[in-house]
Amino acid sequence: MDDTPPEQAPGMRQLRFADGLEHMFRRYHADAFLARMRWSLLVAAAVFLLFALLDAISLPEPVRTQVLALRLGLIMPTLALAGFATYLPRLRPWLQWTASAASLVCGLGVVGIIGVARAHAFPLPYEGIILVIFAVYFLTGLRFMPAMLCGWVTFVAYLGMEMLAGTPGHVLLYNAFFVGSANLIGTAGCYFLEYAVRQHFLSQRRLQEMAEKDFLTGLLNRRAFSARAASTWRQAQREKHAVGVAMMDVDYFKRYNDHYGHAAGDETLRQVAQVLGQHARRPLDIVARYGGEEFVGLWYDLSAQDMQALLERVRAGVAALDLPHAASDASPRVSISIGLAYLQPQPGEGIEDALRLADMALYQAKEQGRDRVVCKQPQGPGSTG
Ligand code: GH3
Ligand code: MG
Ligand code: MG
Repeated sequence: MDDTPPEQAPGMRQLRFADGLEHMFRRYHADAFLARMRWSLLVAAAVFLLFALLDAISLPEPVRTQVLALRLGLIMPTLALAGFATYLPRLRPWLQWTASAASLVCGLGVVGIIGVARAHAFPLPYEGIILVIFAVYFLTGLRFMPAMLCGWVTFVAYLGMEMLAGTPGHVLLYNAFFVGSANLIGTAGCYFLEYAVRQHFLSQRRLQEMAEKDFLTGLLNRRAFSARAASTWRQAQREKHAVGVAMMDVDYFKRYNDHYGHAAGDETLRQVAQVLGQHARRPLDIVARYGGEEFVGLWYDLSAQDMQALLERVRAGVAALDLPHAASDASPRVSISIGLAYLQPQPGEGIEDALRLADMALYQAKEQGRDRVVCKQPQGPGSTG
């Protein structure tokens, strides 16, 4: 398990993790901020509508018509489209883009509104730009980079508009300082916010890992096995594929502990677990520590022959560790017994039925002298080893 504190994780300061982790973070962020994005679009729409009402009451013609055209003809439809996009699962990976586009349209739209007022020498306050900029940084759920891009592009567009409108130098300078400061505050605040979200993401991953992993061996623990196996089991039921469920138990392990000590026993469990892990590499394969010196595994969609051959390799792999076990009656080396239940999950059957069958097979393997694989299928017994 990775023990680096979140704030020292590589890429934390640059707000960019290594590729795989960054990809996971972006998905986490998109999920975590989806509701917030919708709410922020709703709030933005409400504010723009209220301002439209104010414009309708207080602006003289032709400023009113032109300003309302920008608010109701450009900004509102853009917000509606961006809101609609949040409900299309196919657009989920692109939400930062659609929200950025909507933010830019709002920013540039407000620049346009002030520009229209300037063109007709109507003294409309420019502070609306500052509202938009703060909303982009702190409300939308945009990540740092796109938010910063939208904020500063809006700033530059605003400066350009004021210059074109011939705003006097000293007024322009003050306004530029206010809008620029809003952007600086937004940039810094948004950085710290994303930093905190990334910290939270890493802590959550760490917690999940701790809840799922067995501390000694690094394999999954029994609870994580149950959850994953149940889901794979349902998939096998749907797709009518076979699964192999194996219970694996170290032979005469109590004697091993008594003879070599508990610490040596722990190390042996780690090495046995490593062998198991090497034989469960496909995405749906699961191996876990079931408890004590007992392990459990599930393999998806292998033929009965391949399944038995795989477990035979597991058994041989443990023997090949060549760990002396002078107190064992089964072998001079550490060995394991394996009980396999090979079956096609039937409707109404649960993973616990397979585990029970595997446990019976394991019991037989122990009875027959240990250090072997015994396979049971619902329709009849068979064994190797
Ligand atoms: P069998 O061949 O029938 O499986 O005999 P066994 O001695 O392996 O089985 P038994 O269930 O009697 O004993 C299991 C032993 O496993 C008892 C316990 O001391 C040991 N054990 C369980 N968990 C751990 C662990 O985390 N570390 C160590 N070192 N030993 C453990
Ligand atoms: Mg045992
Ligand atoms: Mg046992």
